[in-house]
Amino acid sequence: MIVTIDGPAGSGKSTVARLLAELLQVQFLDTGAMYRGIALAVVRSDESETDAPAVGRIAENTLINFQGDAICIGDEDVSEEIRTAEVTAVSSVIATNPVVRNCLVQLQRNIGNEGSLVTEGRDQGSVVFPNAEFKFFLTASVDARARRRHREMVAKGSKLKLATVRKQLRQRDQRDENREVAPMKPAEDAQVIDTSDLSIAEVVQKLAAIVTG
Ligand code: C5P
Repeated sequence: MIVTIDGPAGSGKSTVARLLAELLQVQFLDTGAMYRGIALAVVRSDESETDAPAVGRIAENTLINFQGDAICIGDEDVSEEIRTAEVTAVSSVIATNPVVRNCLVQLQRNIGNEGSLVTEGRDQGSVVFPNAEFKFFLTASVDARARRRHREMVAKGSKLKLATVRKQLRQRDQRDENREVAPMKPAEDAQVIDTSDLSIAEVVQKLAAIVTG
């Protein structure tokens, strides 16, 4: 069984997908972490994130894999490093690159072939797993998403202002929605759920009720 959960940053999809996977006792796949892994490899290189052929080559030569919950490049755990503001910004730029997307889509489908999965991202229901049994698209107002993201960042010691977080979120949304390849949008058969006024537990409950029938 494949369950896809797509949506913009701050919609709650990561936390919801992780908890739903636990509840259903299936694997959880964070595809954003994979794009962030390639972004980190680009940041570490001397290449610009806008040099499409160079970024494509980096994607083809970077071994992104999960070891338990950790996202790794080769055997190096980069789970922390992929969460910096720089990597976050670069991730939505390199995600417009068709070679990058092609590499990661193949990898995601290989993981999907191994067994049941709750997978989250931007294109899981629309492109990667068109035949998924359950497809969800989580949304929330920009203000609600910015507040959530800001709270998370402050808890981790960030001093960024709410207005800055909101602006960065909007920039990333716009790039994700307007790119030519696999733009972020609900699959035609996805159930769209507005999480602005729902707690994480309420969203998980709602999805679990649908999946378990
Ligand atoms: O979900 P997360 O914020 O970690 O994703 C980082 C970036 O990776 C997003 O802004 C988006 O540009 C890209 N992404 C994507 N397709 C996915 C998952 C993430 O384009 N399936």
